[in-house]
Amino acid sequence: MPDKPFKVFERQCAELLDGTRYPANTGGPVDVESGEWIAQCKLVHELSLERLTQLVEQIDAEADQRGKRGCVLVKCRRGRGKESPTLLVLSVATWGAVPCDSCGGPTKRGRLCGRCAERAYSGRKT
Ligand SMILES: [Zn+2]
Repeated sequence: MPDKPFKVFERQCAELLDGTRYPANTGGPVDVESGEWIAQCKLVHELSLERLTQLVEQIDAEADQRGKRGCVLVKCRRGRGKESPTLLVLSVATWGAVPCDSCGGPTKRGRLCGRCAERAYSGRKT
């Protein structure tokens, strides 16, 4: 019997992350785990933004406990012969941004986001 499409997809995701696929989804949020990542894999026709956000929140929470980074790999199942790209979905926090010391917004450039840094800098000059 050929593998079910979702199994094939999960195996591709495991390869992508250089990780291992959990043979059976035991109700937990983790389908694939590697040294650095855990992932939830979704091969679906439709997925709402709210549901996708929940999946990212769940995997982030689990990743925190394991000291890893979480992501959701999602692919639109368009039907036989109709390809679609695999999407890698991360929260900005997971992507590597840290909260700005001043406003809490995401920044990668240091301890202040661009706007706050600009404000602090112009404040110092006057
Ligand atoms: Zn800021």
